[in-house]
Amino acid sequence: MDKIIQKQNVYISEEEKTLNWEEIQSSFKKTFGSEIYNSWLQKLSLVKEYNDYLVLGVPTRFFRDWIVSRYLDKILEQVKSFKLSLNRIEFKIVEENSQNRELLKIDELSKVAEIKDSILNYNRLNPNLNFKNFIEGKSNNIALSYSKKVCHEISRYNPLYLCGGVGLGKTHLLNAIGLELQNDNNVMFISAERFMYHFIKSIKKNDMVNFKDFFRKSSVFIIDDIQFISGKESLQEEFFHTFNSLMDKGSQIIISSDRNPMKLDRVQDRIKSRLAGGLVVDIETPDLELKVKIIKKKIEEIQNQFKESITLDDDVINFIAAESKTSIRELIGVLNRVIAFSRVHNKILTINDCKNILRDVFNQTKIITVDKIQNVVSSFFNIQLSEMLSQRRSRPLARPRQIAMYLAKKMTTRSLPEIGRRFANRDHTTVIHAVKTISRLSDQDDEMKKNINQIKNILLEQ
Ligand code: ADP
Ligand code: MG
Repeated sequence: MDKIIQKQNVYISEEEKTLNWEEIQSSFKKTFGSEIYNSWLQKLSLVKEYNDYLVLGVPTRFFRDWIVSRYLDKILEQVKSFKLSLNRIEFKIVEENSQNRELLKIDELSKVAEIKDSILNYNRLNPNLNFKNFIEGKSNNIALSYSKKVCHEISRYNPLYLCGGVGLGKTHLLNAIGLELQNDNNVMFISAERFMYHFIKSIKKNDMVNFKDFFRKSSVFIIDDIQFISGKESLQEEFFHTFNSLMDKGSQIIISSDRNPMKLDRVQDRIKSRLAGGLVVDIETPDLELKVKIIKKKIEEIQNQFKESITLDDDVINFIAAESKTSIRELIGVLNRVIAFSRVHNKILTINDCKNILRDVFNQTKIITVDKIQNVVSSFFNIQLSEMLSQRRSRPLARPRQIAMYLAKKMTTRSLPEIGRRFANRDHTTVIHAVKTISRLSDQDDEMKKNINQIKNILLEQ
């Protein structure tokens, strides 16, 4: 291990390198305990260090999923204590065979760095997110069927706009459309965030001509998470022109978002109406039947991939499906944990074992803090945190404030007076009133219920 680390450190250019991986590893050992460290974290290697993120090497995809679903938050927290500017971690699967690893040549790594910034790199479609492994259920069949239709009748539904909460399969569908169309079309697949990154980079480099050309020459333009353009005026301006020019020449546009176009906050009206001008399709939260189907399919995939047999009884499968309520991403995360557990302990799991494993999951959710809730709620409603905490009583501020108080009560262990204090020293009776109001509204009002679920998902995902 040491040898490999040293070898890899060589490839990190001297000016960039600030981290001592061995030192970080020993801090992992202290924080996570030697059992977890020896079975998992010890196998992580530092592949590349950037100013704001790290690329860590993992031996297999399974290994990566396990680490991501279980330890990622803590790992990030830990490495941040060594370098504050880090805000994310990416994983690269490196061959376990150490000989191969040592063969990771300088030029291969510098290639990674070279294409890091190129648009092509972000235009890459993931071959694993295709139509074949997208499972149909009541909550997503309309979205699935139009996603397929769009591939056969280009420009008939234009733009096609898919909306739904976090982790429900939007990116999967967009990616599947891209894969389907990429052979015969010039497909551009990009997240709104990446679109902005390139936009700003082009402005800085005084290279807008290339930027415009690049995006406007696609015949299929797929943009993920469009809600990101909220409040960013110049980006919206550019997006509007890109959009119009693509529509003019008959390119197909496919968009995803966490909400309906007309509900996008701080987005110009002319953009909203363009976005809503084609076909808007919702993806809802999955029902039990779909969740069970997904679990069975995932088990099959893992079995094929790792050539091993995994036995989960039907009642265990049903239990997992019923317990994971928020999103398909969470469902898959939970399933990965359960399978890993049964693998490590080499046993067929009972519902009781699953309860224990899930208790872990719920323990983890305790790290949701009042601060975090306040941040997520204010950004969800696109208001300033300071406005949300202020004494102003206008409805666009008061409702989010009440929702944040309600969630603080439901999702943290803080008492009512404690919550009150964190909302600019309000009285606990104000908190009680907020909790009651939002409980009532979320029973009566579908919109409120949907918003609350979405915010919960975001909190649980982070
Ligand atoms: P979103 O973009 O809506 O947040 P993703 O598309 O990233 O959600 O989906 C989250 C995870 O769940 C991905 O791993 C995806 O492959 C998986 N997933 C979502 N819906 C389905 C489905 N119907 N069938 C199979 N996998 C799904
Ligand atoms: Mg997505």
